Amino acid sequence: MKGDAIMQFAKIILCVLCALGVYAPAQRIYAQMPPAQPKQRVVIAASAVLDGKGRLLRDTRIVIEGSRIVAIDPKAGPVTYDLRGLTVMPGWIDAHVHITWSFGKDGKNGSSGGTAEEVAYQAAANAWETLMAGFTTVQSVGSPKDIPLRDAISKGTFPGPRILTSAEPLTGRGEATGTPDEIRAYVREQKKAGADLIKIYAAGGMLRGGMTLSQEQLNAACDEAKKQGLRTLVHAYREAVRAATLAGCAQVEHGLGATDDDLRLMAEKGTYFDPQGGLLLKNYLQNKDRFIGTPFYPATEEGFAVFEKILPMNHELMRRATKIPGLKMVFGADAVAGAHGRNAEEFIDRVRDCGVDPMAALVSANSLGAEALGMSDQIGSIAPGLEADIIALDGDPLKDITAVRRVVFVMKGGVVYKSIARATGH
Ligand SMILES: [Zn+2]
Repeated sequence: MKGDAIMQFAKIILCVLCALGVYAPAQRIYAQMPPAQPKQRVVIAASAVLDGKGRLLRDTRIVIEGSRIVAIDPKAGPVTYDLRGLTVMPGWIDAHVHITWSFGKDGKNGSSGGTAEEVAYQAAANAWETLMAGFTTVQSVGSPKDIPLRDAISKGTFPGPRILTSAEPLTGRGEATGTPDEIRAYVREQKKAGADLIKIYAAGGMLRGGMTLSQEQLNAACDEAKKQGLRTLVHAYREAVRAATLAGCAQVEHGLGATDDDLRLMAEKGTYFDPQGGLLLKNYLQNKDRFIGTPFYPATEEGFAVFEKILPMNHELMRRATKIPGLKMVFGADAVAGAHGRNAEEFIDRVRDCGVDPMAALVSANSLGAEALGMSDQIGSIAPGLEADIIALDGDPLKDITAVRRVVFVMKGGVVYKSIARATGH
């Protein structure tokens, strides 16, 4: 019944979107979608499977029972889904999104020009679009509003990616942020509020501005989180990159201005690194009018033009980072309003503009992404015992990375949310 409820809800959402004329292509997808039956034994036939760890398996079958993969067996049958001719892989993991951030009723970023219900449906739509794009797990970093969405999805009554959230972030404001003891208390509060991890803002602007937390404050935040069993994601530029690494924080975001020495230190300490290859800034530029003058964004066109200058700097940083031996670079699109459901563009930017190897780019959103979340035993690979989070692309992303735009099959936890039938003879 759970599956039926999901379908029912999804259809309602879809009808709303179709009525608005924004989701026409999905209508066809839905008409062909079989009812989800999570308890059933399902066999997927595939001619090409990327296992999420960098291996390519040919002509095999994936057996799923309930929510989990139980076997990889070329002889298994009968076949429920024939995905031959497609590229099958684990559902993607985006380590850095802001799932509830949306354009409001007036079209502006984060505007409050809507009822609570409208805001909630918008967040639900973001989750839906993210899932349809092949992202079965996301880490959302920066809003306590994620919590009810996360919980609704995890109950299985609501379609969307698995969500991990930081609840309220720790925003560095110099001394005003608090003493190390106060910061420790703040970290514990977030855990109590339901945070799966702690997000920390430790640096100011992309191009200038120093650290907004001292080394001592960062040490306290990341040490306390560790004691509470939580990971830390640190928004950092320039010297804040090294400071976060030395403080033992789990993952560094963005990282503009990091030197090769900083990158090597991260590799040595096992700190995960999540720079952005393009989608984030391009989305800002494409939606300039909707961001300008809203909270956190420069008020002028000129202020925004800086993003065009920063884009090649981000490419240069990622190009350098790929050459640092042992540096664990995860996939984080930093999807904000306008980018939900387009997260995979970041793969294209990384491969096309930053010289990242296509297989490495994909693994960064599969097994490496799962490792960074501490969830390798549950997601990120196609292997017996793991959650059945499985997607398929029309095309071979190793030869043409733009295939990541053509996600034609999405299964999460054994439930199929998208299955576009191919024309016969394909
Ligand atoms: Zn962000």
